[in-house]
Amino acid sequence: RAKKDGPGKVVVFAPQMHAEALARLTLSGDLQQALALGEFRLQYQPLIDLATGLPAGVEALVRWHRPDGRYTLPGDFLPAAEENGLIVDIGNWVLHTACQQTAQWRRSTPDLTLNVNISGRQLTDPGFPGEVERMLRRSGLPAAAVTLELAESVLMGNPEEALPHLAGLKSLGVGVAIDDFGVGHSSLSYLQRLPVDEIKIDRAFLRRPEPTTRDLAVVRAIVDLAHALRLRTVVEGVETEAQRVAMHRLGCDLGQGHHLCRPLHPEELAVPVAA
Ligand code: C2E
Ligand code: MG
Ligand code: MG
Ligand code: MG
Repeated sequence: RAKKDGPGKVVVFAPQMHAEALARLTLSGDLQQALALGEFRLQYQPLIDLATGLPAGVEALVRWHRPDGRYTLPGDFLPAAEENGLIVDIGNWVLHTACQQTAQWRRSTPDLTLNVNISGRQLTDPGFPGEVERMLRRSGLPAAAVTLELAESVLMGNPEEALPHLAGLKSLGVGVAIDDFGVGHSSLSYLQRLPVDEIKIDRAFLRRPEPTTRDLAVVRAIVDLAHALRLRTVVEGVETEAQRVAMHRLGCDLGQGHHLCRPLHPEELAVPVAA
């Protein structure tokens, strides 16, 4: 089946497109219900200080725990939530829950910090800064203990639009990180202009268990540039000891990855009391 859509333009509808649209619609309804029924859960993955091996903070990662026991990762439902706008409500729930949890952990680990992922839709939502302020007040967390992670693709997709929103968040005192850095179109000139505090180097740079000299050269350049701009560096996806050692040697501050620690349920995360 093909439909003429304007002069000379033929749009072909594959039979599965209808099924996909239906599935998306069903997913949208399910997500709304999931939020209402409290089916979202957070896991927390530590950010490990590569010099000491101790956790400096945690990153909150959302999961969908369905009544039938299925455990769905964000990649399978956040795109739909982003599309229908529900990401704003889900994101507020994440922020609220993660701030409360972190405030509780900080009673025994006072320096623990929290990273929260923020979608593009949340960043440009006019109510977002107010929401962040409210969550900080309610939890009692100092703004400096919270870093909001924004994907490079979101920030660099439209840096002029992102800039005032970032400035608004920065004025609250929270930190801002560029997530998944180095794989999209990052313009180095924007890196200098955007008010950010931290760069999270995408795990694509660590795809080899034993990093080669060439792999390391690229990561070193990112780390050196970040440090010259006084930004903290976090490397994602550390899966081997060789990667951990290499990242530490080239000066990266923090690491995340299965070799260091997997994302954990809050009750599994026995944060050691700071010495
Ligand atoms: P991200 O923020 O870059 O988070 C890191 C992802 O890498 C997580 O996947 C984590 O489980 C995974 N990971 C950690 N260590 C390793 C490793 O050593 N090897 C490999 N292969 N993977 C590792 P997850 O939890 O599936 O999240 C995927 C993405 O979904 C996140 O990427 C983030 O962009 C988004 N996301 C997660 N939670 C939220 C949220 O609450 N709000 C928003 N807006 N986005 C979220
Ligand atoms: Mg992240
Ligand atoms: Mg990331
Ligand atoms: Mg990533």
